[in-house]
Amino acid sequence: MTTATMMDVPLTIELVLDRAERWMSASEVVSRRPDKSLHRTTYGAVAQRARKLARALVVAGIQRGERVATLMWNHAEHLEAYLGIPLAGAVTHTLNLRLHPDEIAFIANDARDRFLIVDDVLLPLYDKIVAAGASFERVFVVGASGKHESYEELLATAPPELTAGSSASISLAQLPDLAETDALGVCYTSGTTGKPKGVVYSHRSTILHSLVAALPDALDLARADTLLPVVPMFHVNAWGLPFVAAMTGAKIVFPGPHLDPPSLLDLLAAEKVTVAAGVPTIWLGIREQLDANPGKWQLQPGLRMIVGGSAAPEQLIRDFDRLGLTLLHAWGMTETSPIGLVSRVPPHLAGADEATRYKLRAKQGTPPPLVDVRVRNWQGDVPADDKTNGELLVRGPWVARQYAGGHTPDRWTKDGWFRTGDVARVDEHGFVQLTDRVADMIKSGGEWICSQEVENHLMGHPAVREAAVIGVPHPKWSERPIATVVLRPGAQASADELRAHVGAKFAKFWIPDTIVFVDAIPRTSAGKFKKTELRETYRDHFKDEP
Ligand code: AMP
Repeated sequence: MTTATMMDVPLTIELVLDRAERWMSASEVVSRRPDKSLHRTTYGAVAQRARKLARALVVAGIQRGERVATLMWNHAEHLEAYLGIPLAGAVTHTLNLRLHPDEIAFIANDARDRFLIVDDVLLPLYDKIVAAGASFERVFVVGASGKHESYEELLATAPPELTAGSSASISLAQLPDLAETDALGVCYTSGTTGKPKGVVYSHRSTILHSLVAALPDALDLARADTLLPVVPMFHVNAWGLPFVAAMTGAKIVFPGPHLDPPSLLDLLAAEKVTVAAGVPTIWLGIREQLDANPGKWQLQPGLRMIVGGSAAPEQLIRDFDRLGLTLLHAWGMTETSPIGLVSRVPPHLAGADEATRYKLRAKQGTPPPLVDVRVRNWQGDVPADDKTNGELLVRGPWVARQYAGGHTPDRWTKDGWFRTGDVARVDEHGFVQLTDRVADMIKSGGEWICSQEVENHLMGHPAVREAAVIGVPHPKWSERPIATVVLRPGAQASADELRAHVGAKFAKFWIPDTIVFVDAIPRTSAGKFKKTELRETYRDHFKDEP
């Protein structure tokens, strides 16, 4: 019997904080304020303030495992909360400010949030949440606090830390000894199907996720980078990027509330950003601005943009290459922290023809280390290079093993995999390609149509900016597809032309019966097509068909 002789260091936020403070202290943290002024600080200062926050929370009586909610945009104080709340042994609950106040109130109550830290510009929303039934024992406001307590005053109450050498005194704050399996943060699923459910991340899952996310073949983040997370810190922890940045020491630039394409481009150029991250809609808007204003913004050559949350259209990847910028497609979920797949062309295919390389990059890709995925249908595992679809299953150390409260246990297979609800297939290179959500597939005349495949192909048409395809009840076929399409500015295309475009790739019964041209497609709080709303809008469309 040989016993391992290595140290057992708990993987906790303390390690990230300590590193940011001691070794990365000079790296910059830039926040754009609501008035568009830039606030500059460093990891050193953020880490010290995060420690103060932790001590102040302990003195305020927060107990291990209790929730402190945040209702904030992306900025330095939110990063302090990310680091400081779990350091106090508490759990950060990032509230999604884009949800309806009733839904936010439901989520805050479900999580039993005790304290709240809120941006002053979001106080009107806070009032609505309270009117909708949420209540917090104490509320700390970042900025002008008005009748509420101020976040800065909370920090000012922080006593020094009680350490081994300090003389015992009740005015000193004793931070808890953290275990790596302790809860660190909670995010709620966006709830497109059923009620939102809590996913509770541990210190350990967060540290492991951050380490792997930084790897060159994952998101490739280094100290020399400047990162701009457009993805909000209230959506899957901004894909974990604030932790990755604090760990690597990459300069981080927070955009605050102004997320329109020109404002983002101003910031990308001014701060010489090398890596940005956001959902496809963000990059669609950026592409249009760059095309309409050539030479207006001097972006860093080779700027990389991580895109996920919905499928990145192949055309978008091509267009950015033309502009000298690189889109990196990744897939993930709230339940997977989120990184589960990253699409990078492997070296042995680097010489493949252009069409093959773009096809690969538009797929969701392959898993990073420690994550395992498989595609399974009622017949069993779908082998690579098989054209059949199945449900994507995933497991790994940063994949949830249950929801808070144990809701919907059937989302996990008996043999321990998380059922993503995404439909996928695997190509001969092992690249996973999502073809639909299980709930969005269309059943027509007993056969399945993958709505996402059709809409992705429609978005490959030069005149199409965005397309969403839904199944609508049909008296004869059970369901038939309808496509809603937004054309690119100034572009023209007829419904027949678009139907022919679909027919050139797919079986005839996959061609949408109706194409509706719209100004915008409704979106969820996380930027995904809101297909529930679309289905409701067009519910009776085929009612009178023979
Ligand atoms: P959320 O938990 O809100 O982040 O949503 C997760 C869901 O977003 C996944 O189950 C997918 O359906 C979708 N999604 C995320 N990334 C991608 C992607 N790269 N391509 C297509 N769908 C995606």
